[in-house]
Amino acid sequence: MTSITLPDLVTQAVQNVIGHGPIKLHEPTFDGNEAQYVQDCIESTYVSSVGKYVDQFEIELAKYTGAKYAVSLVNGTSALHLALKLAGVKAGDEVLLQAFNFIASANAITYCGATPHFVDIESENLGIDPYKLQNYLSEISKKTGELTENVVTGRCIKALVVMHTFGHPSKMDELTEVAKKFNLILIEDAAESIGSYYDKKHTGTMGLLGTMSFNGNKTITTGGGGAVLTNNLGLAKHAKHLSTTAKISHKWAFIHDEIGYNYRMPNINAALGCAQLEQLPNKLEKKKKLFDKYKIELSKIKGVSIIEEPKNCKSNYWLQALTLDTPSLSMRDNILENLNAAGYMSRPGWDLLNSLDPFIESPSMSLETSNLLFQSLINIPSSPNLVT
Ligand SMILES: *Cc1c(COP(=O)(O)O)cnc(C)c1O
Repeated sequence: MTSITLPDLVTQAVQNVIGHGPIKLHEPTFDGNEAQYVQDCIESTYVSSVGKYVDQFEIELAKYTGAKYAVSLVNGTSALHLALKLAGVKAGDEVLLQAFNFIASANAITYCGATPHFVDIESENLGIDPYKLQNYLSEISKKTGELTENVVTGRCIKALVVMHTFGHPSKMDELTEVAKKFNLILIEDAAESIGSYYDKKHTGTMGLLGTMSFNGNKTITTGGGGAVLTNNLGLAKHAKHLSTTAKISHKWAFIHDEIGYNYRMPNINAALGCAQLEQLPNKLEKKKKLFDKYKIELSKIKGVSIIEEPKNCKSNYWLQALTLDTPSLSMRDNILENLNAAGYMSRPGWDLLNSLDPFIESPSMSLETSNLLFQSLINIPSSPNLVT
């Protein structure tokens, strides 16, 4: 008699929830006014850098998140770049961020001439571990006036970028406390967490600045797109100014008062975004339903768990993630092979950023939990259209 293996059990559980493959990891869905608004853009000829949908998208996004201001941009990476710049991150500074992360924030930090400094996460919510961070900073930093200096590298540690992994909010109260204690400017990368709340506050609204992404694989999409969120009018205005080549408004003259960027979101993308925002509550409901179904099936299997929304939080469940109770790269890869062969597009967690060539020299704390999660985490198909 052959016994059923763990990879077979996982694949069977996934099939019980979402039916037969092939099924992608995360697909956009256009169930509302998307075509109508885009068509309207084309007919008006306002497809590019100005138009009513840009203004509408920014107003609706601010309303939805509770941020005072939202500035729409070409993608989430440019949003991170501007947020870091507006936070005053300069060449020679260090910025703290989690190593278990998409590469965008580390790249954006280097665009400012600064150095990413990697920290560990906790396994329940996949966010930065505030207690480890506090202990680590107590060991390796000293305060000189208003600044926190890394005594090992001699550089100034300027900011902390908190990310809400796969839509699960990080421990914002504790992380805000640590940031305050060490004079770090807090930026939230909410690229994955539209619709996610920490203690009733929308992610991306608790730091000085927050960033979002509307790439095609995210919960809502504008094709490509991003935004900066802030409650500070000066910062919002400056973000808009920097994103539009720092051009002074004038009837005909080309006057630019600083080095800016061409980062603004085109109207045609914002049109898509306005329609997608209308559909967001519906998508979130379906994603939660999908989680509930996966949880039932996966809880029947010994050896795997599914990541759930943290206490006092609401997660958008952007990407469903299962973990092995006993981390093992070979078992992880066997499960990935099995799922993908059956047509269920599944992926491991990111390679830790500190292990990638561009960041191999960057400072880092010990990353035990990040390493264990890298060996145990698998994202499984998560599109909202997988449930009715
Ligand atoms: C998607 C994403 C971004 C930004 O993505 P863009 O593709 O530039 O829009 C940034 N950080 C994280 C964690 C992301 O998942």
